[in-house]
Amino acid sequence: RISPSFASRIIAFTSDSRSISTLVLAEHEGGAIKPQSVSAVKAAKSLSNDNPISLLLAGSGSALHEAAANAASCDLSVSEVLVADSDEFSHPLAEPWAKLIHLVQQKGGYSHVITASGSFGKNILPRAAALLDVSPITDVIEISDPHLFVRPIYAGNALCTVRYTGAGPCLLTVRSTSFPVSSILADSKSNDAPITQVDLSTFGEDSVGKSRYVKHTSQDTERPDLGNARVVVTGGRALKSAENFKMIEKLAEKLGAAVGATRAAVDAGYVPNELQVGQTGKIVAPELYMAFGVSGAIQHLAGMRDSKVIVAVNKDAEAPIFQVADYGLVGDIFEVIPELLEKIPEK
Ligand code: FAD
Repeated sequence: RISPSFASRIIAFTSDSRSISTLVLAEHEGGAIKPQSVSAVKAAKSLSNDNPISLLLAGSGSALHEAAANAASCDLSVSEVLVADSDEFSHPLAEPWAKLIHLVQQKGGYSHVITASGSFGKNILPRAAALLDVSPITDVIEISDPHLFVRPIYAGNALCTVRYTGAGPCLLTVRSTSFPVSSILADSKSNDAPITQVDLSTFGEDSVGKSRYVKHTSQDTERPDLGNARVVVTGGRALKSAENFKMIEKLAEKLGAAVGATRAAVDAGYVPNELQVGQTGKIVAPELYMAFGVSGAIQHLAGMRDSKVIVAVNKDAEAPIFQVADYGLVGDIFEVIPELLEKIPEK
């Protein structure tokens, strides 16, 4: 016989273990949610069917409120949009944002906190995890159940299945390439989620800690974002100079593609660091990835091997890039690229 008090404890435990609610930390730009944050919402949806999702947006000014209104009304299907409006969040400094996650999580009692695995999320989430005294799980590519996750290790050469056994909330960064955006937008209907202002009265001052915002530099370009582009054209060390790298840029322009680079090309100063693809750069999985004069080092493959179609041009028939390429051409890029530029019509 089970005593009533024991039975009620079993029921409480069962419902507790089933109650999943997720806080998604989102990035926004120009009044819109960034695609990688939409992927994070998609990951949150895959935790459970009836998972209420709160989308947390922070920043200051009208762009924040425009982004919140868009997020509340568009096809994201989140349950609510939380808005933290303060100058503290004008820049993505990890300390105030981590403190914000801590505050919101404590108030909302979320079982999961998710953000995209980009430089923004990777900077903030581990700090929030430290404040919450839990271990974060990073770079998740598959959610098997609410506490069982798959993530790549050894530069993507092995997959590790991790069970979260912590007592506190489960904090995850997810790879947006593994939770593609197009399907969520197609699946979901228009929404009318409430927008709630986060009460920052207990946030306190002096949250910035030891870091200080200095400036933001990025290339002013109309090319698609490397992380979400359908086509990526990448150049390696073989380009030999920044001047020659312009051939890659021209080809990308003709194809409406984003430009990528290997670390060797970035270290040599041909292009800025933000274009690096690989283990210590961006992770991409476009429809088409074109690699010119790229050897295919393991650290580079870690960032692009999930691309749907890989095309490689290298003068060395033994180059490792050919092992992952769907189409390979053994040739000199200084002959092949000009020929392509000549044959591909202007957009
Ligand atoms: P190379 O390896 O020098 O290859 C150049 C290729 O061009 C060669 O295969 C050559 O045959 C070919 N070539 C030369 N001339 C021509 C020509 N005229 N026509 C056609 N082909 C030609 N690398 C990354 O890319 N991304 C990362 O995120 C990254 N992270 C790293 C992290 C760590 C911890 C470490 C240790 C390394 C990392 N690297 C990374 C560096 C990586 O190991 C390689 O050194 C780098 O990817 C090589 O770049 P590459 O292919 O441009 O140059």
